[in-house]
Amino acid sequence: MTLEEARKRVNELRDLIRYHNYRYYVLADPEISDAEYDRLLRELKELEERFPELKSPDSPTEQVGARPLESTFRPVRHPTRMYSLDNAFSFDELKAFEERIERALGRKGPFAYTVEHKVDGLSVNLYYEDGVLVYGATRGDGEVGEEVTQNLLTIPTIPRRLKGVPERLEVRGEVYMPIEAFLRLNEELEERGEKVFKNPRNAAAGSLRQKDPRITAKRGLRATFYALGLGLEESGLQTQYELLLWLKEKGFPVEHGFTRALGAEGVEEVYQDWLKKRRALPFEADGVVAKLDDLSLWRELGYTARAPRFAIAYKFPAEEKETRLLDVVFQVGRTGRVTPVGILEPVFIEGSEVSRVTLHNESYIEELDIRIGDWVLVHKAGGVIPEVIRVLKERRTGEERPIVWPETCPECGFHLVKEGKVHRCPNPLCPAKRFEAIRHYASRKAMDIQGLGEKLIEKLLEKGLVKDVADLYRLRKEDLLGLERMGEKSAENLLRQIEASKHRGLERLLYALGLPGVGEVLARNLAARFQSMDRLLEASLEELLQVEGVGELTARAILETLKDPAFRDLVRRLKEAGVEMEAKEKGGEALKGLTFVITGELSRPREEVKALLRRLGAKVTDSVSRKTSYLVVGENPGSKLEKARSLGVPTLTEEELYRLLEARTGKKTEELV
Ligand code: AMP
Ligand code: ZN
Repeated sequence: MTLEEARKRVNELRDLIRYHNYRYYVLADPEISDAEYDRLLRELKELEERFPELKSPDSPTEQVGARPLESTFRPVRHPTRMYSLDNAFSFDELKAFEERIERALGRKGPFAYTVEHKVDGLSVNLYYEDGVLVYGATRGDGEVGEEVTQNLLTIPTIPRRLKGVPERLEVRGEVYMPIEAFLRLNEELEERGEKVFKNPRNAAAGSLRQKDPRITAKRGLRATFYALGLGLEESGLQTQYELLLWLKEKGFPVEHGFTRALGAEGVEEVYQDWLKKRRALPFEADGVVAKLDDLSLWRELGYTARAPRFAIAYKFPAEEKETRLLDVVFQVGRTGRVTPVGILEPVFIEGSEVSRVTLHNESYIEELDIRIGDWVLVHKAGGVIPEVIRVLKERRTGEERPIVWPETCPECGFHLVKEGKVHRCPNPLCPAKRFEAIRHYASRKAMDIQGLGEKLIEKLLEKGLVKDVADLYRLRKEDLLGLERMGEKSAENLLRQIEASKHRGLERLLYALGLPGVGEVLARNLAARFQSMDRLLEASLEELLQVEGVGELTARAILETLKDPAFRDLVRRLKEAGVEMEAKEKGGEALKGLTFVITGELSRPREEVKALLRRLGAKVTDSVSRKTSYLVVGENPGSKLEKARSLGVPTLTEEELYRLLEARTGKKTEELV
């Protein structure tokens, strides 16, 4: 490459980087991924090193971020400059960083580092005078940022007052949006047909720059702090590790995961460890930050124009792959909203195959201008969520087809209604109701599958991993690990929970399956009466009517469901999966043929006693007749007692009742209730 060629490319790169700085820092709406940005910056750096005559103080390699947008938020000049961080992308680059330190200090390592999560948000500076918060500002270009005090104060953990701190103090950290909050926010935006945020960092930046702090407050922003500007000398702190503890003690939220490590090798260990665990973090981390622990070395090393020489961001791999959009399918959600999902030619990214990607809503598709057949650049946001970074329009052949929204619901054929940019199925019985069915099945009083929350169910349905509750038992760990926010541990836990749900017994299963009109009590009564699913499936109308609490209408509705081939098929598949279909209350027959009536107050709620008796196969009625086997008599009995006496019906005290139960079931009453 000649000097002239290099000059041309350098100018090109600088323009490009400045443009992307503006999109990223000022508009909070980047066009390219961090990795692409890093590549541009790197190429520029390398050229400037090869051709030092092209170096210039106004090159983006010498600058931090971009100057804030004039206007809305008051610009403030930071009392001391805010820096960026240099990056390392490999162990070799990490070694090179340590070697630079060795050379600069004229001393051999290894040195001790404090290692922290690199939280992917935006950096802010809090300025305190005499322990009182004066303002909070964004980093901006490092010299001048924007005041965002009101919005920062919506983050409840940011202290307004401090005790025992230097007179003038700058505390620095990161404002971020937890992944949970990010997904919720995007879902809301999707639902309203609005533009979604590309990643949690953009969402955080966009939320912090809201004109109305009330909106910011709803966004669930968090902050974590890790550095001091002014006041560092006065604080008398010796190490970065102490500094973090000090911040914590002063009441600042500090990301708890920080640790110390020796030398590049030690940092590498932490890096590898955290890389594995990154999916379990509640926030997005794009790497680790290693800082020389000994603060006196900081003074010796100082800063380049852009970044400290004593710290480095060791970035997690951010793979990006080119692939093609083969098709778009439309999925109906719980609320009937239709979501477009891109079907990709499968690519392997950061450890798993990606073949589907959400295209959110119509606004998103318009903005991306994506077409079927397009080549696209795809990555995993936060190492988890597949996302299209951009469409490679330069590779279009003219064969690409626009994405056409269906007119009818792909699930049920109902004509879709359009509310703004949102397409919705109006059919109340749309199979999208599957969601509801699974949620109910997993709920606490039903099969109690902890960890199978709404978000997860939706994801499972979205990915086609489950269609109904029987599919839950076919889930494998690999399936789960492909889902966002799902680490090894939670996947294993969930599978254990699903496994455990096989043994809840017929009574819970009947409730979980949502038979018409069958609540908890009825489910127990049915289980007590029939003891097994097989028996229940063969039940006649008369038999159903004999069950406590089953009236004519319910009996018919239950019968209809029991004869429904789809229901029978579901039951068959559940059985094959190993779900127990027998009643748990084996005492089910213990009181068979007996009829009880209760009068007066018992030590337990009457309903509980009734339910217990019924579960054991007894009938419980409200009035005494010749058919009554026993009248249970509590405190302050009513007229039933006289009636029983006159008819010669035997009576039992509560005590005697329990003794009878124990005798018949071989179990203590406590075990039975
Ligand atoms: P960059 O965003 O590439 O300029 O990387 C530097 C930025 O990383 C800093 O300005 C901070 O906003 C951010 N950062 C996140 N976590 C940390 C941390 N633990 N220590 C220092 N900087 C961090
Ligand atoms: Zn529908």
